Amino acid sequence: MELAKRLNRLPPYLFVEINQKIAELRAKGEEVISFVVGDPDLPTPSHIIERMCQAAQDSTNHRYPETAGLPELCQAIAGWYEKRFGVTLDPSREVLPLIGSKEGIGHVSLCFIEPGGLALVPDPSYPPYSLGTVLAGGEPYSMPLKEENDFLPDFETIPSEVIDRAKLMWLNYPNNPTGAIAGLDFFEKAVHFAQQHDLLICHDAPYTEVAFDGYKPPSFLQISGAKERGVEFHSLSKTYHMTGWRIGMMVGNADMVNALFKVKSNLDSGVPQAIQYAAVEALLGSQEHIAEHNAILQRRRDKLLKVINEIGLKARTPQATFYIWAKIPQGYTSIDFTKKLLDETGIAVTPGIGYGKEGEGYIRFSLTISDDRLEQGMNRLLVWHRRSR
Ligand SMILES: *Cc1c(COP(=O)(O)O)cnc(C)c1O
Repeated sequence: MELAKRLNRLPPYLFVEINQKIAELRAKGEEVISFVVGDPDLPTPSHIIERMCQAAQDSTNHRYPETAGLPELCQAIAGWYEKRFGVTLDPSREVLPLIGSKEGIGHVSLCFIEPGGLALVPDPSYPPYSLGTVLAGGEPYSMPLKEENDFLPDFETIPSEVIDRAKLMWLNYPNNPTGAIAGLDFFEKAVHFAQQHDLLICHDAPYTEVAFDGYKPPSFLQISGAKERGVEFHSLSKTYHMTGWRIGMMVGNADMVNALFKVKSNLDSGVPQAIQYAAVEALLGSQEHIAEHNAILQRRRDKLLKVINEIGLKARTPQATFYIWAKIPQGYTSIDFTKKLLDETGIAVTPGIGYGKEGEGYIRFSLTISDDRLEQGMNRLLVWHRRSR
């Protein structure tokens, strides 16, 4: 079958062999402990589920929703942004609910990227920024996130002919996969850079509520002038353990919000209304579980970091996100090291190369694994290390 050329422009899927190995081990009855997926292991808080069930019983919610979302939801999102970040949003013009933020992240390039056009994309990064660019016919230009720069892009090193051709810049803090954070000073620099070069900014911020040691990550929209230049993607997935329900939002610049609305109103019919009501409950109801979950993740972080450093990998202590980005020993590619780990310990991690060229030399551990499995995994790593010395 001949596929459209744009599909051939997507990069090859790198993890075929690793996934095969995992399947083989499991088929042999071996227990693979996976640190791969970033998906909260705790259930959605019960008051949110109760609201969803109640809304599901109401037949007015059995019909097509509207792409623009329920006014109640847009207001709840605006209210949450005001309360959490002191950012004021017009719920009717500056808020757009999404079928999970990945959906909007993937589609937004259709609004701004011309065939052959450039988007500045961090490397390493969450794959949909560059895949969305490619599917829109554009080209991602990598902004390396180097450890020596605290995994922040260095705008000075982007060639001026690239900047001239670029339309959009992607940013993501707290960052997946590196666990790095950005302060308001960095966002201010980014907005200034965008103003100078007539760029739009898409900031992806699903981890602002997953933070440790009392740290409170800021919103990019707290910078004055940010709303003239960009939008922020956020999600209920990580904050409210709602990955399976698929609901997120794009907020900020009204023209950008309207552009994505235009695309989406032609492609989808919005978020199922029972889920929208559940999201209203999540945003307006008790926020207590957030601190509780962060305390659990912080304990896991500290335990696993200790083991990671003991076995000769090197990782910084992430102040936010549920990922540990660990440097592997020299002489291995991240794929080879991942295979070795899987073969010798039955532990699965994500090879850094999956997030871009600059991810080479690293592997990612996710902390969204039950405490039991975490203990088991850490034991395996320690035994493996002692044996291999
Ligand atoms: C998890 C994640 C998302 C979004 O998830 P949705 O479930 O689609 O809302 C977006 N960006 C990054 C970097 C993520 O890790």
